Amino acid sequence: MADIIFPHQHILGIEGMGPDAISTILDLSESYVDLNRQRDKKRSDLRGRTVINVFFESSTRTRTSFELAGKRLGADVINIAVEASAINKGETLLDTAMTLNAMHPDVLVVRHPYSGAVQLISEKVECAVVNAGDGWHEHPTQALLDALTIRRRVGKLAGLNVAICGDVAHSRVARSNILLLHTMGAFVRIVAPPTLVPADAAKLGVDVYHDMAEGLKDADIVMMLRIQTERMRGSLFPSQREYFRYFGLDAEKLKAAKPDALIMHPGPMNRGIEIDSDVADDINRSVIPEQVEMGVAVRMACLDLLTRNVIANFDDDSSKGGAA
Ligand code: ASP
Repeated sequence: MADIIFPHQHILGIEGMGPDAISTILDLSESYVDLNRQRDKKRSDLRGRTVINVFFESSTRTRTSFELAGKRLGADVINIAVEASAINKGETLLDTAMTLNAMHPDVLVVRHPYSGAVQLISEKVECAVVNAGDGWHEHPTQALLDALTIRRRVGKLAGLNVAICGDVAHSRVARSNILLLHTMGAFVRIVAPPTLVPADAAKLGVDVYHDMAEGLKDADIVMMLRIQTERMRGSLFPSQREYFRYFGLDAEKLKAAKPDALIMHPGPMNRGIEIDSDVADDINRSVIPEQVEMGVAVRMACLDLLTRNVIANFDDDSSKGGAA
């Protein structure tokens, strides 16, 4: 493990991250999956290091996952929840960043409701920064944990047909997943009502479907997304019942996908709106609990790599968000 080369100072997004860097994270995560299944999960690699989780937007699984990841590696982990409504973007955000920076953390894990806010913080502090979700922009560790889940189940990412379904327009999870899956050679389609297709879908290079039967045809992976009403201005679909009827995943709609297609959801789930309990809890097809398990391992790998301070030239575009 000692000679792993990771070329990024921060993990701000999948954009700018090449296949080698992604594989490095996934490969290292594998060893942490094994560790997390043991009775004694504690390591001391990050002993003396400080990780601060700064969440300007609420979170249960991501914050807990980063906290566990840091603690299992032996770091001191502090959680700060900042009321988003008290934030005035600009100066206040940077003041917070400068205050935290003065405490000499080694890693800041930041979630923020505004796209680009985490990148802004990374430009002002001296430590490594991990984006734990910024607005509609990116959620890189979610895409990495999804990739690890798929890779462990199917054995590969390249060549798979992945259908990302639902509220793609407001989803940072979808954006990071599309970037990662394309980088690793998978094919991605999105299935959503026209009002929930992102404006830059063509730029993202995905095929767009408005019908679940067509969009799920021969899919290896069916990734459902939460309807993010908190990010919608006005109503973008007639009713929840109507939405479920046309876009909610149930056993009937799933028949269009490959017989062994895996079902994924980043959580939190709206049962009966974007996904039916029968498929969400199907122990043969749903990997939703496994996604949560992989999340801790992936975040351990990210914290580990970022605190090694080994910067080298990789195949990545280091000028972009994923790098620096
Ligand atoms: N937990 C994910 C996120 O923070 C997905 C969601 O909230 O729907 O983006």
